[in-house]
Order: sequence, then C-alpha cells, then structure tokens
Amino acid sequence: MSLTSKAIDRIAPSATVGVNTRAAELKAEGMNVISLAAGEPDFPVPDFAQEAAIQAIRDGKSKYTAPDGTPELKDAVRAKFKRDNGIDYDRSEITINVGGKHTIFNAMMATLDVGDEVIVPAPYWVSYPDIVQFCGATPVIVECPADAGFKMTPQQLEAAITPKTKWLVFNSPSNPTGAAYTKAEVAGLVEVLRRHPHVWILADDIYEHIVYDDFEFVSLVQQAPDLKDRTLTVNGASKAYSMTGWRIGFAGGPKPLIDAIRKLQSQSTTNPCAIAQAAACAALQGPQDFLADRARAFQERRDLVLSMLGQVDGLKTVKPEGAFYVYPDCSGLIGKRTPDGKTLDTDEDVATYLLESEGVAVVHGAAFGLSPAFRISYAVSSEVLEDACERIQRACAALT
Ligand code: GLU
Repeated sequence: MSLTSKAIDRIAPSATVGVNTRAAELKAEGMNVISLAAGEPDFPVPDFAQEAAIQAIRDGKSKYTAPDGTPELKDAVRAKFKRDNGIDYDRSEITINVGGKHTIFNAMMATLDVGDEVIVPAPYWVSYPDIVQFCGATPVIVECPADAGFKMTPQQLEAAITPKTKWLVFNSPSNPTGAAYTKAEVAGLVEVLRRHPHVWILADDIYEHIVYDDFEFVSLVQQAPDLKDRTLTVNGASKAYSMTGWRIGFAGGPKPLIDAIRKLQSQSTTNPCAIAQAAACAALQGPQDFLADRARAFQERRDLVLSMLGQVDGLKTVKPEGAFYVYPDCSGLIGKRTPDGKTLDTDEDVATYLLESEGVAVVHGAAFGLSPAFRISYAVSSEVLEDACERIQRACAALT
C-alpha cells in the first residue's frame, strides 16, 4: 500500500519555493548567488506594523482567535476593500487566512469536486493548477502568449467555459509576467462571464498596488458589481507590506463560501497567527503613501532590467504593466552550447546554466506553463539587479 495519497501524488513541489530554497542553501554553502527567484519584496515591513506586532505580544494577544480572523482585522480588511477598490463587504463576507496561497487553497478545497474544471490562463502562478489538481478537479489551461501581452481574450475565455467550469482564476497584475488587464480588457471578460452564471471568479489582486506608467488597476467586482455574488476577491499583506513570512492573506466573497472556508480552517490551522493578524491590521490602517513610492522604485528596477536584458542576444522581454516580474522568452538560447559542452534543450537547462555558471537563480518557464522562458523577480535593490543582469549577459555571451 502506498504511503502517499493519490491527491499528494497529483502535485509537484512548488518550483518558486524550491528554486528559492535551493538558492538560499547554495548561499549558505558560500556560493556567490543572487536570487531573482522569489516573489518577495526587499523593502522592510512598515514600522507601524512591526510595532503593532510587538505591542500585541506585550498585551498577551497570543491566544487562539476566531478561526477566520479577529473582528478588528476583518474590519480593517473591509475598510481596505472600500478604500482601495470601492467594494462593500459585510464582516461576515471576509475571511483571514495564512497567506494568499492559503486563501486560494481553502477556496478550492471548499468548493471543488472531482470532475469540476477551473480555467487558468497561462503563464500562471505555479500553485494554481496544482491546488486544483490536489482537489481532484481539472485545470483548463488557456495559453496566453507574449504576442497577446500574456492576456486572455474574451474569445478564449468563452471557448474554455463548459458546463463543468466552476472557477476562473484571474490574476492581474500577473505573476509570472507582470501583465495587467486594462479596464476595457476586464470589461471584455466580464461580458463573457455574465453569459455564464455558473462560473465563479477568483480575482487574485495581490499585486494591485504595484502598477506602472499611470496604469489604473481595477478589481473585478469594482468593474462589475453584478458579479459580486460569485467572486472571491483575494489579497494579502505579503506583497504590499513586505510581510511575506508573516503569512496573512484575506478575501472578500459571498457568505456561503466564506462560511465554508471558516469550517475548513477550523479543522486545519485553527486560526492565522494572532500576532501576525495584529500587525496586518496596523499595516492596513496606517498611512499608505509609501505604497506609491515603492511602486516607483519597482518601476525603476523594471526599466533597468528591461534595458539590460534588451542587450542580450536570444532573449525577448515584454514590458510589464505591473507586479515585479519579467518573463523573458529564451527561445533564442535553446540549442546553444555552454562552455562545458552541454546543450541547452529546455528552459530548465537555461535556468540551471545561469545558476551554475554565474550564480543567478531564476525560475524556469515550464513551471508557469509557457516555455521556453524564465521568470525574473526584480524585487531586489538596483545594485543587486544590475550585478545579476551583468551576470546573465555574461552567461548568454559565453554560449555558442
Ligand atoms: N508568490 C511568490 C512567488 O511566486 C512566493 C513564492 C510562492 O508562494 O510561490 O515567488
């Protein structure tokens, strides 16, 4: 009898977490590694969030909380959705979870049955299809190539919907490409969704504050309030407030779904960390003006990485509208030989070569469902980024 379940055997370890962990191990072993693997901002956690965590510890706020979050944090999240997205949620329509990934995992676990389908535009964040598969459902991958700006068209969405479709996963700005849908583009998808009332929408807005060149982010329910009763609007503290390790994700959605998530969470984590909840509450309630400053810093980094990768023969990079990722097409490197005489057959070979030859960790495109490419997370300082891009230039120039 097999030790592992069929469910666990259906999924792979997360490639983003895996490459990042490997890069940290190599660094600890003394290798000069620059990790562009993790989607993790290098900025500090805002002081006021740090202070709130320390105060919560001092005040003894270290007991169990309600399974799906404290009333204080739920109210802070409600105020955030109102302030940033113009969406009104009741407290009973809010759930707090152990990171955005956990929010998505819970939502899928609470709703999917074998045979259900979930539409996932590719390139996708690594965990979407695996979470769906873990639940025994089927990811329906819609390929959105670079020449379409990595965006799904209304026609593609229409063609992907079947009577079995349970969810559309909609992530804008996107991980791993940084592509963000304009209001007009969202409107086009909304038209299709209106025709298919059985389809739920998981709007993953985690990168909403990181947009460039006056791009105007719009949350799906903000654009289409009539879809509110079948949309889960997902967000979290990780990317905006650099609170990746604190693990606070949250969502607003219809009460029956929120209730189901609470039931599941009461049987798994019991509650998200009480101290992290207090910190996230302060992060959401404090001054928010630094978010625009950080977005400007990310934009400078984006421009730096685009200009330096633009000098590399064999790479083609689309200019992203948001997030902190670029997704260069590396088809021009496939078939080339490394100084060690190895042929680069896949984008995983390219990523391995960059790591072994120059100590730059990136995540191969196969993990995100569109190859050959790789993902660079430019959430590092400009100095580190410049060094990393010089290394990539050198590694690519050494290929024959
Ligand atoms: N979301 C980030 C990334 O894509 C963090 C790691 C993960 O959870 O995938 O790198």
